[in-house]
Amino acid sequence: MFIESRELLIKHKIPVSRISKYWKGLEGGIVYKTACKKCGETYYPPRAECLCGGEVEWVEVDGEGIIEAFTTVHAIPKGFEWNKPYTIAIASFGDVKIMGWAEDVEVGDRVRIKTGKDETGVWKVYFEVI
Ligand SMILES: [Zn+2]
Repeated sequence: MFIESRELLIKHKIPVSRISKYWKGLEGGIVYKTACKKCGETYYPPRAECLCGGEVEWVEVDGEGIIEAFTTVHAIPKGFEWNKPYTIAIASFGDVKIMGWAEDVEVGDRVRIKTGKDETGVWKVYFEVI
């Protein structure tokens, strides 16, 4: 039986001015999280203010991470046709978990965080196995 389908494209507009430091950081090879000066809570993705109402400061995510999960996408979604099957992973870096693009990873691998532009010019987080 033929099932009719139609394409659905969704565009989200999100305010980014208060977290623009995050995007500028990626361009400079730095991944930032935010940490509350009042209660100490940390956020990744960064938040411009803490849930407790406290002021946050920007902190560089540094050092080694550990791969906690990953998935390889073979059914490439529209808009990613330039990419072969690709792998997205989640790694823990101390008190935050970060999602990034990776190759040939396994759970438990130690990784270093990198930033770079993809083929469409978008800055992304990548993991490099140590
Ligand atoms: Zn707080």
